[in-house]
Amino acid sequence: MYHQIAPADAEGFESYLHVTPDDFERQVRYLLNHKWTLMTLTEAWRSCEQGRAARVAVLTFDDLYQNFVDYAFPVIRKLGVRATAFAIGGLQSDRATVENLPEGICRASNDSLRMLDQNGVEIGAHTMTHRELPALSGDELETEVVQCKRELEKILGHGVTSFCYPRGRYSPRVRQAVAAAGYECATTTLRGNRHDDPFEIKRIRVDGARQGMKLGYTTGWFYDWRNRKRCLREKALFAYGDRVAHNQNTGRE
Ligand SMILES: [Zn+2]
Repeated sequence: MYHQIAPADAEGFESYLHVTPDDFERQVRYLLNHKWTLMTLTEAWRSCEQGRAARVAVLTFDDLYQNFVDYAFPVIRKLGVRATAFAIGGLQSDRATVENLPEGICRASNDSLRMLDQNGVEIGAHTMTHRELPALSGDELETEVVQCKRELEKILGHGVTSFCYPRGRYSPRVRQAVAAAGYECATTTLRGNRHDDPFEIKRIRVDGARQGMKLGYTTGWFYDWRNRKRCLREKALFAYGDRVAHNQNTGRE
């Protein structure tokens, strides 16, 4: 799970969200040298379903900003790998409604989205306005999940099959809405690397400090095993928050 790739002297650089292009290239080379096959998220999940996936890794990028095009894509193209980047559908049309969009950072243009799509980068959906989904009413939830898919499909000219929950916040109700909208898989921020549910795909957060040694640890079975209780705890918390929000929206206590 990457967020932004940018040089260390870029405006607003924060090591918990940013990785430099050089580090990113080193990390991708590490995966390739250790015989990982890099696919898009949808490709990876389909190959899991067919029982063919073994050492498969997916590079995911939340919030498809212009700096992905400037700094991550050149590395992806140079090394000939595939990746998935999640775009916020309504960012251009309704910028004011997007929560906490960093100053000076803009979403990749629709032309860039098409260019990436034709060059090995799957464009996934990341809602219309990046709000936390469990707190929304049924209608709002549907707009965020369904409209984003429609808008991106209009831009790309084909189906959009992967989804990313903003800030990793989801619940049984949100999961259900995403599945009903026709997506095939969705990523969370739960930590882990073994997967059994296409709508609860766990990830490994890669930040500016994450180097080869740590990647070796986070891609191994022990990392997944060690985080299993934490995943259950977070899922329970999300489900509780969803019930509270939903009851408020429907007027119940
Ligand atoms: Zn996001």
